[in-house]
Amino acid sequence: MPELPEVETVVRTLRPGLQNARLEGVWWSGLPLRMLRAPDVPAMKRVCRGTRVLAVRRQAKYILIDVGADPEHPRGTLLVHLGMSGQLRLAAEQVPRAPHTHLVWRLGDGHELRFVDPRRFGWVAVVRAPATFAELATLGPDPLTELHPADLAAALATSRAPIKAFLLDQRRVAGLGNIYVSEALHRAGVHPGTPARRVRGRAPVLVEAIKAALLQGIANRGTTLRDYRDADGAAGNNAAALLVYGRSGAPCGRCGAAIKRRVDAGRSTYFCGACQRR
Ligand SMILES: [Zn+2]
Repeated sequence: MPELPEVETVVRTLRPGLQNARLEGVWWSGLPLRMLRAPDVPAMKRVCRGTRVLAVRRQAKYILIDVGADPEHPRGTLLVHLGMSGQLRLAAEQVPRAPHTHLVWRLGDGHELRFVDPRRFGWVAVVRAPATFAELATLGPDPLTELHPADLAAALATSRAPIKAFLLDQRRVAGLGNIYVSEALHRAGVHPGTPARRVRGRAPVLVEAIKAALLQGIANRGTTLRDYRDADGAAGNNAAALLVYGRSGAPCGRCGAAIKRRVDAGRSTYFCGACQRR
């Protein structure tokens, strides 16, 4: 599932071709997306018709595409969540559409913005004011720009959850998933099962570790385990640079002990039992 570094990479690869592009039409496959909901294509047509793209940006794991005529007053925002296997691609009109293409926005310059999603857990919506959209309004701080050690320490102190579950909770910190939580906890030397409130004193180390794991992911253009691709269709290179995720049985880079895998609530955690302390 794409996490913050993958979504950031998609945004960065979309921006050069999409910023300022005119939106000329919307096509839909007719198939529902996440939770078997149909995207509101009439609203997309109403909001997008005759506009251009004012900005392409990221909030947590959401891609926001502001459209309108006046940058100060966007007419609306296309909100895209990639779910498990969703991809946003920019391609020339004459390039055949990939299987599982579900939404297409025709651009004024002969290109198309395509939403491809084999498993259809992704979601695309159009909203007038993203700040009031419930799914965005409940998000916690962005770990790259808004996460401060003192605030994190205060939040940790109020939690009864294990640190791994705390960091996966999008209301606590927005944008992390299984891969980067495993990586960040390893970098911080914190065992994933430690109660969150017991690591409040290590908040500065945690903030640094989270940022380092995410920035490495962005520098490597994301982690491709299976489906993830950037907007040009390229896979990311970060899988080879992961310290623990997907490496059970391999030696820990810090102490040499075998990396362990544990499954909680159906989700894998990878960690070193020797150098990640409770
Ligand atoms: Zn170790």
